[in-house]
Amino acid sequence: MEGTAAISQCMHGGYHINSDYGFLEFANLKPSAKGDSMIGDALGTSLYNLAMPLVRYDMGDGIELFTDPTASCPCGRTFPLIKAIHGRSDDIIVTPDGRFIISLFTLPELVTGIDLVQFIQESSQQLLVHVVPGKMWTDEQKEKLAFCIEDLVGSEMKVSIRSVDHDDIIADASGKIRPVISHVDWKALV
Ligand SMILES: [Zn+2]
Repeated sequence: MEGTAAISQCMHGGYHINSDYGFLEFANLKPSAKGDSMIGDALGTSLYNLAMPLVRYDMGDGIELFTDPTASCPCGRTFPLIKAIHGRSDDIIVTPDGRFIISLFTLPELVTGIDLVQFIQESSQQLLVHVVPGKMWTDEQKEKLAFCIEDLVGSEMKVSIRSVDHDDIIADASGKIRPVISHVDWKALV
């Protein structure tokens, strides 16, 4: 995870930029087709990633901004609002019982011994987990990972965890390794 910038949705549906976490800028802004908003690329600068600070990192997401920069949210938070995020919707996992999971990438922090992991949703019922094992990887840690995954995706999802080599991890065209890949079009399910 590059950890450059973060946006959170509040209970009123507003998308707030967590500007205390990272500095978010927008490039190539242009009016949307409807003309009531602007769409551009998200560039993030990390404030917390001290191991490898990234500056103006192209996050690969399209951000839609309100044309009115003073737009506010009924929740009262003063973190800046954006209208919508467009982009990497292919890293959402949809479970058979209808949950939308976006937080799988946090699980490797709960177990030890994982050098690299990639979650691949192959079908609506199947989740494949590729683990590049490190020195501390054990059956016990594998069980712990399986338990954490089931806790998130529920018991109806068929989960297989496989140990693989680094070369088996799928990188996208830019060389970036995305922790979650879905081959299921969740938009067809809603
Ligand atoms: Zn809000």
